[in-house]
Amino acid sequence: MSPVIPIRAETATGCTDVVPLVERGQREVFCGLTGIIWLHRKIQDAFFLVVGSRTCAHLIQAAAGVMIFAEPRFGTAIIDERDLAGLADVHEELDRVVNQLLTRRPDIRMLFLVGSCPSEVIKLDLSRAAERLNQHHHPAVRVLNYSGSGIETTFTQGEDACLASMVPSLPKSNTAAKQLMVVGTLADVVEDQMKHLLEQMGVNVTFFPPRKSQEMPAVGANTQFLLAQPFLADTARALQDRGAQHLPAAFPLGVEGTTAWLQAAATAFGVSPLLFEKVTATPRQRAEKALAVQRQMLQDKSIFFFPDSQLEIPLARFLHRELGMRLIEVGTPYLHRQHMAPELAWLPAGTRISEGQDVDLQLDRCIQDAPDMVVCGLGLANPLEAQGMTTKWAIELVFTPMQGYEQAADLAGLFSRPLRRREKLAA
Ligand code: SF4
Repeated sequence: MSPVIPIRAETATGCTDVVPLVERGQREVFCGLTGIIWLHRKIQDAFFLVVGSRTCAHLIQAAAGVMIFAEPRFGTAIIDERDLAGLADVHEELDRVVNQLLTRRPDIRMLFLVGSCPSEVIKLDLSRAAERLNQHHHPAVRVLNYSGSGIETTFTQGEDACLASMVPSLPKSNTAAKQLMVVGTLADVVEDQMKHLLEQMGVNVTFFPPRKSQEMPAVGANTQFLLAQPFLADTARALQDRGAQHLPAAFPLGVEGTTAWLQAAATAFGVSPLLFEKVTATPRQRAEKALAVQRQMLQDKSIFFFPDSQLEIPLARFLHRELGMRLIEVGTPYLHRQHMAPELAWLPAGTRISEGQDVDLQLDRCIQDAPDMVVCGLGLANPLEAQGMTTKWAIELVFTPMQGYEQAADLAGLFSRPLRRREKLAA
């Protein structure tokens, strides 16, 4: 039977063999603590305790902004004002803060100690602290640790470090039946849609991270996993160490990306092309129709990505192929060639891809290129807007449900809205 998936076949291999412009200079990007903002909303019985400084406390408060509820599930144990000679006291202080927290919040089932950059924290062995606290609070609470330090992580790598820290404690799968696991934080509404589509195809699926720490998915040699996010290199490696196999696929952004992502699962689980078509046709056509409206605004507009989230390449692919935007530069903090292979193949040959950052040089290029839109961090947005550029904050993209068919037009809308606003202002 001929393939029924209407993915545009291109004879060229796009940017598969691209040599990126590699820059190692000053970076303008959030640290991995930022991931706490979406992770704490996903794992509903977890608490994230940053072991850090007042700067760290300010960062997560500011990034969380209006999302702070009466009982937030993150906080900061501030240790930078301690006497460095008294490190033993720091451990005692940490134990005291944790005991107090867990007594006050019996709903917490999983506690993450999140490392940061102050030298006092770097000297602390947080894995030992987690082990000690684990013994003390077992079995009511599981204590894990990871680093969200700005020295080691950019903002989405915080999620990678968090998920990777959980992998060793996932239960071992004890069945031989193949099992699909979707890896990476998705908004609940997106997760429900993906689950529904896959189950209609007869594919049972688990999600990691789960919504409850008590519902950790099992992993083993029978596990095949799809990445829902492009920034999970360490997590993928940790799952592979537990015997799981990665299913290479484009990421589920836009109609094409979602179709290819679902297709990778369908192929691995022996779903017939007919059933695949039956399940995906309606939402796909609905999404294509909704995208056509957005295309009117975005067609032929040029876009420049500063490196922030590692989402840049899949986003660029979507904006170019489905909305007709012109790619000026696609910056990524890190280029994982293997996970990105299906995406690179879909970018137009010759796209300028940069890896890492030297922010001054990149700003010079951006200003010279004068794109219609710039995707960048909060710190760059204001100065660029002052120069007359239209910007999109990269961080909004990780907070917004944007994967899957139903969200494709909303995702396009995130890019068309600022352009429309700018046009109105200029009118
Ligand atoms: Fe804290 Fe370092 Fe992040 Fe600053 S960069 S908020 S010091 S972890």
